[in-house]
Amino acid sequence: MTIYSGPVFEMAAQQFNVIADHLAIPLDQRDRLLLPKRSVTISCPIHRDDGTLAVFEGYRVQHHLTLGPTKGGTRFAASVDIGEVAALAVWMSWKCAVMNLPYGGAKGGVCVDPHALSKHELEGLSRRYMQEMIPFVGPHTDVMAPDMGTDEQVMAWFMDTYSMYQGRTVTEIVTGKPVSAGGTLGRREATGRGVAHLAHRVMRDLAIEPSGATAVVQGFGNVGSVAASELHAIGVKVIAVSDHTGALCRKEGLDIPALIAHVGKHGSLAGYSNELACDPKDILTMPCDVLVPAAVERVIDATVANSLRCRVLAEGANGPTTPEADLVLQRRANEIVVIPDIICNAGGVVVSYFEWVQDLQQFFWDEEEVMRRQYQILNRAFSEMAARAKKDGVYNRTAAMAIGVERVRAAKNTRGLFP
Ligand code: NAD
Repeated sequence: MTIYSGPVFEMAAQQFNVIADHLAIPLDQRDRLLLPKRSVTISCPIHRDDGTLAVFEGYRVQHHLTLGPTKGGTRFAASVDIGEVAALAVWMSWKCAVMNLPYGGAKGGVCVDPHALSKHELEGLSRRYMQEMIPFVGPHTDVMAPDMGTDEQVMAWFMDTYSMYQGRTVTEIVTGKPVSAGGTLGRREATGRGVAHLAHRVMRDLAIEPSGATAVVQGFGNVGSVAASELHAIGVKVIAVSDHTGALCRKEGLDIPALIAHVGKHGSLAGYSNELACDPKDILTMPCDVLVPAAVERVIDATVANSLRCRVLAEGANGPTTPEADLVLQRRANEIVVIPDIICNAGGVVVSYFEWVQDLQQFFWDEEEVMRRQYQILNRAFSEMAARAKKDGVYNRTAAMAIGVERVRAAKNTRGLFP
């Protein structure tokens, strides 16, 4: 029992123990690898537009500082608690290590429904969150990024608040900023692009032609909408999408650019079409070639895993698949290729790393260079995972996590107890 105890952290711990068993890590060394180095809980008071005062609870968890600063997104969602944030920080550590980035994992969040805030209230909350975090973060300590419920604008407010306190502009304190405020080209699209790029790679391995293929995408925010758009652009028919307001299905394929324009204007899929509306519960198990969960964690449990009818499971979200579902998917490995989250959605942190490097050097790249280097890193990590899965005779997630955990462990073993 720790302060992190809860279903999401239990899931991260369970996954870690599978890897620790596989790598024969002695029991006394496991807590040091799994438990976060630091965590901070804060209260964020804001003035509501109606003149009342509201206080929101926020968190930041830094998992390890062994390889460099920590790095990770900030989530604004009603589900956020310290256990969820800690689990996401742990996953970030394995993800950064498997990508060979010089970072430990971190994550932050505020327990709030961002859709219930006005823009003015969201700005107040974002600025207050960063202000409370100033003693604990820094360009060489902990670098924030967007996650569910936060976007480029929130990152700009974070950066501005931090900079005001330093008395100079510190663009390298956050990534995922607008290009107009020190962001990099290609960051907003990076995660979704990476998901589609790796899904396409696996489709090629399976001899699935994009023009005859179908995809289903759960979650139509940053990751889901870009993944859908990239798949649509190579000719894949996206036959179902969903968000927190509902789902839309069309077996001839949905008009993804029109959906993106609708969400850009109205904030969600709601109101696009009554005729195309379908039950969001059904879309994960629809027959399709590529399934992209790109919303929240733990949506694929053992029951859903048994009913999946996709060929490729491209995990855009963090932690969409439970350990029980993993046991089912390991059994179904000949039918479904899983691209695990720490590889599949790593395009985001890879391009965040590029943004940090560019901000530190004040030397900016063009988008082509960002994409070329992103795909190079993703391809290498995917190939290393595939080779390891073959060599050890294990499932893709086990192989990817084993590479990540081994790299963090090797650094800790050579440095000593401090970091
Ligand atoms: P976002 O806030 O831009 O979008 C989230 C989407 O999910 C929205 O469309 C929302 O309506 C939808 N959603 C929420 N609850 C849902 C539910 N129960 N069913 C269906 N849809 C639901 O967030 P995002 O940045 O796209 O992040 C999505 C996932 O991808 C998260 O798990 C996040 O941790 C992960 N991720 C994001 C990035 C990134 O760069 N943004 C990088 C790596 C991983």
